[in-house]
Amino acid sequence: MTAGKSAAAQPQPAEADRLRYFSQHQHQIVDTIRDLVQIESPSDNKPAVDRIAAFLAPRFEALGGRTRLHRSTDFGDNLQIDFATASRSGTSNRKPVLLLGHYDTVYPLGALASMPCKIEDGRLRGPGVLDMKSGIALMLHAIAALQAWHGQLPRPVTVFLVSDEEVGSHSSRKITEALAKDSAGVLVLEPAAGLRGAVKTARKGVGEYTLRVKGVAAHAGLDPGKGHSAILELARQIAVLSRLNNLQQGVSVNPGIVQGGTRTNVVAAEASVGIDVRIKSAKQASGLDRKLRSLKPFDKHCKLEMTGGINRLPMERTAGVAALYKKAQEIARQIDWKLEEAAVGGGSDGNFTAGMGIPTLDGLGGVGDGAHAVHEFIVISELPRRALLLAGLIESA
Ligand SMILES: [Zn+2]
Repeated sequence: MTAGKSAAAQPQPAEADRLRYFSQHQHQIVDTIRDLVQIESPSDNKPAVDRIAAFLAPRFEALGGRTRLHRSTDFGDNLQIDFATASRSGTSNRKPVLLLGHYDTVYPLGALASMPCKIEDGRLRGPGVLDMKSGIALMLHAIAALQAWHGQLPRPVTVFLVSDEEVGSHSSRKITEALAKDSAGVLVLEPAAGLRGAVKTARKGVGEYTLRVKGVAAHAGLDPGKGHSAILELARQIAVLSRLNNLQQGVSVNPGIVQGGTRTNVVAAEASVGIDVRIKSAKQASGLDRKLRSLKPFDKHCKLEMTGGINRLPMERTAGVAALYKKAQEIARQIDWKLEEAAVGGGSDGNFTAGMGIPTLDGLGGVGDGAHAVHEFIVISELPRRALLLAGLIESA
């Protein structure tokens, strides 16, 4: 800490003043988001993802954060930033709050050419602008604001930005979980739900499976009776799979990719289906997994092999989640904002931390639409109150 920046001396601005502060900084927040969107960072391109990590590290260091790069060989590096508080402040005994985000996107390199980063009708457009580069920008500006208001951060803060969220978080999951374990709560800067900007208090669990069928090949003209079609078997299995859907209970099983066969005149020896699975409660995971693994072939000459599993358990609306949401509502109420909550079907790294029982609030990032789509945008005028909410939650979570 530098001299003259005494934490105790500064009065706390009221929420309305904070909103004014962020409104005055809105153009800076937008500039930060634009900088991030201009650096394309598809999950499957390590050099590109490493580039955005290299851009972000000094931005956080300039705010006093201590950065640590977790190297990954298969994916981009993951970036951890720790903000400690001075021990004499009396607040350093508090556990840190974990701000969680990702800088990978689903868009391939070159996407900027067809979906340029630009402002139109109060909206900022571009690949990853909503999911979730605006969320990272909000972290930077909320931290800077708290330092301006308090002289230093009111409690320790850990930021963790992952490189592979859009492809299952294989390189980052263990680190996310270790950091969450040591934190008082987790604030996930994924996009808000819908244009009303609801925060996410529940997410479905997500699984991915592949069913492979091995049949017996034969000439479709000369020896049709000798063949055992993997495709026919697969078709019958898909009908079985579809009966595992129970939308009322929040269970869905979607055969999303089908492959098989080699030629029209060959009875197919192989076929497979890629399956997306969603569950609403952790209790549903094992039962559904068992059903998927115990499929029996209709044709005894065909063999079935099921691989994969549940990747993210659901983020359930636990008491800890509800308590965090209540704190968020209280902050919002002070600026006459009725903050809503939503349960969504998509998973995030918040599923991991909530699944460990750590209070987690998700959907704290930008407000917009079109995540993973060509029309992806955020609503610029929503940024000040999102920043206000995040700053307030960093204090109270
Ligand atoms: Zn995301």
